Amino acid sequence: MSGAVVTLSGGVGGAKLVLGMSYVVAGRELVVACNTGDDFTHLGLRVCPDIDSVLYALSGLSDQTRGWGRKDESWTFMSAMKDLQGPEWFNVGDGDLAMHVLRTDMLAQNKTMAEVTGNLALRMGIEADILPMSDDPVATIVHTDAGDLAFQHYFVREQCGPRVAGFSFDGTENAKPQSQIVDTLQSDPEAIIIAPSNPYVSVDPILQLKGMKAALKNAGAPIVAVSPIIGGKAIKGPAAKMMQELGKDVSVLGIAAHYQDLIDGLVIDVQDAELAPQIREMGIKTHLMQTIMTDLSGRIELAKATLNFAQECRT
Ligand code: GDP
Repeated sequence: MSGAVVTLSGGVGGAKLVLGMSYVVAGRELVVACNTGDDFTHLGLRVCPDIDSVLYALSGLSDQTRGWGRKDESWTFMSAMKDLQGPEWFNVGDGDLAMHVLRTDMLAQNKTMAEVTGNLALRMGIEADILPMSDDPVATIVHTDAGDLAFQHYFVREQCGPRVAGFSFDGTENAKPQSQIVDTLQSDPEAIIIAPSNPYVSVDPILQLKGMKAALKNAGAPIVAVSPIIGGKAIKGPAAKMMQELGKDVSVLGIAAHYQDLIDGLVIDVQDAELAPQIREMGIKTHLMQTIMTDLSGRIELAKATLNFAQECRT
């Protein structure tokens, strides 16, 4: 593959595909626009869960069993926190803590989020260009039957229990899409890929940035999404629950409808083959394959097929 591939990604689901992409797209040609709507300040530390999931995946540090955070993690910080009767609702492993401390320190020295993220990626031996969606803060708010909740309060503290009525993204009015992402989009990229991330809380914060959708559409590259919904279910996380509570079709059709005004193609799982004709009737091309990424080769296969499909969508 020659030319830049811009991939929009959330955390764990997105990071799986991004890891596959890193085997197919050379070095900094892989430009990853990470959601930062989940970011928050906890105990004075700036925590960026989606960026860190991508950094951990690309540096081989992800914990595959737990499904989040770093492998071989230790928990001395949390047990000391418990002894001190500090807040325990948000787990921070000792290695993870080092990331948050370094990031917070660099931000305090007036480095931008992109500089900080690039610096961390470099220290971790990552060649791809990992970027925050914006250098400006945006905070996802989940509107629920238990009131408006900051994203991590909904996701971690309340374990996605409250019923969702909608979302807003505080700061979007003033937040600009990150400039290197915009530059790449203006430099004739090869493809734009929307990873199989949660459409509402991982991808929408990126798309809602002022000027982002126009920049994606004007890039002249095929835009292809990979469905995070397979057989009417999410592999992990609240995407399907959110779709149901929002009254959407909990299937790949709901995903197709969500991205209809943006994408040229949608990669769907073989389990959803019978829904492909309806997606094509919506003006979206489809590619069917096994999309559950259980191991590294599954991640690479999905990345390769998605990029080939994007080239087919060009014509
Ligand atoms: P988060 O920010 O950590 O919640 O992660 P993302 O938003 O990036 O990813 C969550 C989504 O990834 C969920 O909706 C899952 O269904 C989806 N997902 C996770 N693993 C896979 C997989 O192997 N294949 C596909 N197609 N989707 C996946």
